[in-house]
Amino acid sequence: MQNPTKGLTEQPKQRTTGESLDSRSQAVIGVDLGGTNTKIGLVDLTGKRLLEFSRVKTLADRGPEAVLSNLSASLMVLMDQAKDKGYLVVGVGVGSAGVIDLNKGVVITSPNLPGWAEFPLGERLRQRLEVPVLVENDVNCICYGEYLFGAGRELGDFLGIALGTGVGGCLIVDGKVWSGGGSSAGEIGHMTIQPQGEQCRCGNRGCLETLASASWLVRRAEKLLRRGTTSSLHQHLEGPRGLSAEKIYRAALAGDQVAQELFQAVGASLAIAVANVVHLLGIRRVLIGGGLANAWKVFIGFLHRELERRLTLMAPPEIRVVKAQLGDNAGALGAAYLVGSRAALEATSDPGK
Ligand SMILES: [Zn+2]
Repeated sequence: MQNPTKGLTEQPKQRTTGESLDSRSQAVIGVDLGGTNTKIGLVDLTGKRLLEFSRVKTLADRGPEAVLSNLSASLMVLMDQAKDKGYLVVGVGVGSAGVIDLNKGVVITSPNLPGWAEFPLGERLRQRLEVPVLVENDVNCICYGEYLFGAGRELGDFLGIALGTGVGGCLIVDGKVWSGGGSSAGEIGHMTIQPQGEQCRCGNRGCLETLASASWLVRRAEKLLRRGTTSSLHQHLEGPRGLSAEKIYRAALAGDQVAQELFQAVGASLAIAVANVVHLLGIRRVLIGGGLANAWKVFIGFLHRELERRLTLMAPPEIRVVKAQLGDNAGALGAAYLVGSRAALEATSDPGK
């Protein structure tokens, strides 16, 4: 995939001898803390440039203390690299899945990070790194990254949807992430699409997540195959690696009817959710990212068709649906500029922090 941030990467600065600490350019670090991989970006705060990007294993199965040690070690190395380039790291922003207490930097619960109930990630990282740290929801960070550098640049206000293991959402309004006064704004994944549908991990039935996430796509396919439905997907069912969203995508591309119907449900369910948001907010732009968005070709047609049926108060062609562009970089970039920069600013205005 083409990476639009590639051009942002800057060559190391030459430092002049005798340069004082105060003359160093300010940089912030953005962290996209995922269940498997953690992506880390070092960015120039004023020049809006990506200086370094790396990824490390999260080690989520070893618990929060191990993740914290591993992450802070990587961040300390990066802070030294920043110093060598002539930059001073003034803040760190972390995007994490789950319900986050933004003010306290606490991960309240996270499906991808077992054992993290009420873990004070922000404060613990701040103690180790001795720089201000703020924590945000990961999808908000991804959308903000796309808003600054990716497919969201030209959109203005938009609804962002992240299709992965679950379905996340975010609203960008007037250049800001709409937080709704709590931490649940934009949680489109738990909008009811089928009142009598399957039970979601949140407790509700028929959530968008049960119809349009990668994990549920695999579950639904397995269920259909075990019922005896004829499909080329049977060859993967008992195989050592089992089914995956990617295999279902490839089968759909090759003309497998079951796989195509599964993606029809993805597209149609997304359209119902989008139409509901459009009717409520009047938003006309939608950005879709996440791993499952790579199956764009096999669901976007169904999404547009269903939008035609569901949008009754607005002409469907007015709604523009675009695919995210940044891939892996978006979350770290968004975390850096959305909360890393704010952490730095808050520390400046409150020296006691
Ligand atoms: Zn749900």
